[in-house]
Amino acid sequence: MAIGNNSGKTRSYNRRVVLETVRLQGTVSRTEIARRTALTTQAVSNITAALLAEGLLRDAGRRRSGRGQPPIEYEVNPDGGFTIGVEIGPRFQQSVLVNLAGRVLASRTSAVDDPTPAGIGPCLRREIDALLESAGVARAAILGAGVVMPGPFGIEGLSSVGPTAVPGWLAIDAAAFLGEALGMPVLVENDATAAAVGERLHGVARELRDFCLVHFGTGIGLGLVLGGQPYTGAFGNAGELGHVTVEPRGRPCPCGGQGCLECYASLHSLAEQLGGAADVDALIRDGDPRFNAWIDIAAEKLLIMVGILENLFDPEAIVFGGRLPDAVLDRLIARIGPLPNTVSHRSGRSVPRLLRGTTGGLTPALGAAALPVFETLTPDFGAVIRARDTGGSSHARR
Ligand SMILES: [Zn+2]
Repeated sequence: MAIGNNSGKTRSYNRRVVLETVRLQGTVSRTEIARRTALTTQAVSNITAALLAEGLLRDAGRRRSGRGQPPIEYEVNPDGGFTIGVEIGPRFQQSVLVNLAGRVLASRTSAVDDPTPAGIGPCLRREIDALLESAGVARAAILGAGVVMPGPFGIEGLSSVGPTAVPGWLAIDAAAFLGEALGMPVLVENDATAAAVGERLHGVARELRDFCLVHFGTGIGLGLVLGGQPYTGAFGNAGELGHVTVEPRGRPCPCGGQGCLECYASLHSLAEQLGGAADVDALIRDGDPRFNAWIDIAAEKLLIMVGILENLFDPEAIVFGGRLPDAVLDRLIARIGPLPNTVSHRSGRSVPRLLRGTTGGLTPALGAAALPVFETLTPDFGAVIRARDTGGSSHARR
């Protein structure tokens, strides 16, 4: 439950508290919103009136109940706003247009000859204009764009340098550059963080405020949601999980290290083990020994990582998600078996310690599109604390 703040200095925070309450409840009356948020009925009336006028909420009618006139209920208007998600890769870009419910209205993919900022800027602008035109959505209805690109950001000499990196972005403020190029607010994240936000908005982590998402993408990343907000570190690089050592003096890794998690538990390591792409369903059905050997080793290394994450972050749950097929993620979770004795070991848990993500093949572009929806719909608890501490208006960082 999100608690509102009646001091009147935190209007945008309270807007988000109301939107989050409606989003989680599905449909809800003003009285019920006031009860759940501890805001005054007057404050809730003012906020819902403004949100209705903006089209972010809509009237869901009256629910039949007991005696007397039941109150009007409200719900999030799925077409009250739209966001754009973009994935920029070394040789391609993909963009999607989604509504507030996460439904894809249009998508485009095109080859990229020049993935540097100077090359991407103008061609991305053209792509997005074409995207909006194909869906018949006006620019003014766009709440913002989320962009996913390979990290790490602003550092040199680690991990993602190599064939998966895009050149020329290290030294610049990518969000500011793209915001200028596209003429709209832009949020830039790595794929793991975007996927975690997608799971919190639309997936298995809807009700969770503190969770870790182990993201099996090109490599292995960590999406962290702490206190209801994505945590990305001081420079946007928190969660470079794939290059944490799980085997001292183990297999050599392209990053220059040895025994990194990615060498044992990534999609890439699975493909190497199998000698190329394969039909995973058939491998599982037939009990393929190479596949089973990969599961055994990957589960052993992931078990170590689960223990580390639990002790470091005390999450409500750890979610496995990303591009590994659901059947493989399920096998991994089952094979990890009894979990280590960490701070997360307690009786009476309402959520299992390990969960499989439910946004399935959520592409990085779809995860990116969730970033501005999240920004619009969910409260930044830090903002109200900052406002209280400074005694003035706050501005959410993200
Ligand atoms: Zn490594």
